[in-house]
Amino acid sequence: MARFSSKVVLVTGGGDGIGRATCLAFAREDAAVAIFDVRPEPAEAVADECRTLGARARAWRVDVSKAAEVDRAVSEVVETFGRIDVLVNNAGITRDAQLVKAKDGETLGRMSDEDFDLVMAVNLKGVFNCTRAVAPVMIRQGSGVILSASSVVGLDGNFGQTNYVATKAGVVGMTKVWARELGRFGIRVNAVAPGFILTSMTAKMPEKVLEAMKARTPLGRLGTPEDVARAYLWLASDDASYVHGAVLRVDGGIVVGT
Ligand code: NAD
Repeated sequence: MARFSSKVVLVTGGGDGIGRATCLAFAREDAAVAIFDVRPEPAEAVADECRTLGARARAWRVDVSKAAEVDRAVSEVVETFGRIDVLVNNAGITRDAQLVKAKDGETLGRMSDEDFDLVMAVNLKGVFNCTRAVAPVMIRQGSGVILSASSVVGLDGNFGQTNYVATKAGVVGMTKVWARELGRFGIRVNAVAPGFILTSMTAKMPEKVLEAMKARTPLGRLGTPEDVARAYLWLASDDASYVHGAVLRVDGGIVVGT
């Protein structure tokens, strides 16, 4: 029997990249898949793909940074599928810039307030909004698994990513708080810290940066969305029944460096 038959999985940012691969991986294991994405068309397309695999699936247009939208959509997921067994807080964005860009003693630019606040709103507040909305459902059930996307850069730092790194370190912190607060209700809480994964997000990065990251990866390749999806699947499964408050690196052994 498939591991997730009769389970309901909610994936945020499920319309693309790692989120899409995660939806399909759970659908292949017979889970019902709820997809939240700010872009409705790709999310609907992934729901179609899940249904083609024989799974129940539905997409919601949700901006995870908006608490009222999240609360409403989570209620609709429960009305539609009856429960939520797994939440994957995957939605995330980048707005990269140096804190201060300077040459010959002259300041050429700064990270803007808008870029700092937007990345906070989606990557950090979004994870907070979704977990706060779903936790009461899981408490009522007496079970659940909450998984969130951190990043190796949230653990090691990275040039040009003050805002993003702050959110990914924040996700690690929230994971450890929620492990303490929610474990008593039978809810396991963990994070995944991917290395550099080939998606639309990394496609925006200069080729030479990606080559440098590959050179720093002992496995000699960048990751695929499926590499990360399989980690989510394992963490959500009973095979990980005593894994709690952990941050699992899925990074080919990368050493991010300077
Ligand atoms: P992606 O850009 O390919 O896909 C992200 C999805 O999130 C998109 O479908 C997008 O529409 C959706 N989204 C964006 N803002 C949203 C919002 N406000 N509300 C709802 N949905 C929203 O990204 P990805 O590379 O698959 O990354 C997925 C997650 O993994 C992110 O949290 C990212 O930070 C993290 N991550 C990615 C990498 C990598 O190398 N790609 C590495 C480490 C961590």
